[in-house]
Amino acid sequence: MSYIERREVLSAGLVSLASFIIGGPLTPKVAAESRRSIFDAHLHIPSDNGENFQWNLVTPTMPEFVAYLDKCGVKRGVISSSWSNKAKSPEDYRNGNNEVAKYSERYKGRFRGSCVITPHRIDDALSEIERCRKELGFVWLGECCNYMTGYKYDTPEWTQVMKLATELNMVLQIHTTTAEMRYLAENFPNATIVFPHLGSNLKDISERIEIVARHKNTHLELSGSGHERVGIVEKAVNEIGADRVLYGSDFTINEPSGVIMRVKNAFLTKEERDKILFGNLERLLAKAAAG
Ligand SMILES: [Zn+2]
Repeated sequence: MSYIERREVLSAGLVSLASFIIGGPLTPKVAAESRRSIFDAHLHIPSDNGENFQWNLVTPTMPEFVAYLDKCGVKRGVISSSWSNKAKSPEDYRNGNNEVAKYSERYKGRFRGSCVITPHRIDDALSEIERCRKELGFVWLGECCNYMTGYKYDTPEWTQVMKLATELNMVLQIHTTTAEMRYLAENFPNATIVFPHLGSNLKDISERIEIVARHKNTHLELSGSGHERVGIVEKAVNEIGADRVLYGSDFTINEPSGVIMRVKNAFLTKEERDKILFGNLERLLAKAAAG
């Protein structure tokens, strides 16, 4: 073996060793594939404190969580912590956000971290959003779920959250009723908002699609119920446009591959399907990071 051959073997070995340690794609070929791989806008990791939204635990650890996503073909995603969503104190959501930072680093290139706060002690919440953006590098805030710890969106405190996230150029992902969705879309036209969930009946779904269609700063994400009704993904794209419809699964609660299959089988162009499955999320994250 020549010197050059030996050097190539050695460098290939180092790349695969580094890839094994980091758990992320490093070779140019894999990196090129990953740029077109499915990107999930809505993932809740199994928390280190045992908090997990899954109704009957079958993926209780992070390696099992990742293995299940592999099975579904989900190679990238935005992760948040259920520890933060269920926070009883600022310390809880700080711990949750820290574990998200830890796993984003451990699975670098695969997961992007998201900050979650509750606004009960607003000064702490605002400081935590700043910390997540400036120290942890998160550009995503959510999924914010007011029903979990009992807060409302039409309050002066939540207005402060919306304003700070907008100033910091972060994407807000907010779980809402249809009335809450309308309120946020109408009152915060400068915020970049992703609303998860199509809705549970046709009236609800039609109204939610109509709200997003009318407010160009908002986006609709397909997790939960509604997408499984054939024709609804097409309806969302026809009325909103393919640029503001995003794939998300809400795993560990919901099955990722159901949404993926519906998007793949939808009566849409390949370009539209690619936008939904990874392109739009990539664009939102890049735009937020650039700001
Ligand atoms: Zn969720």
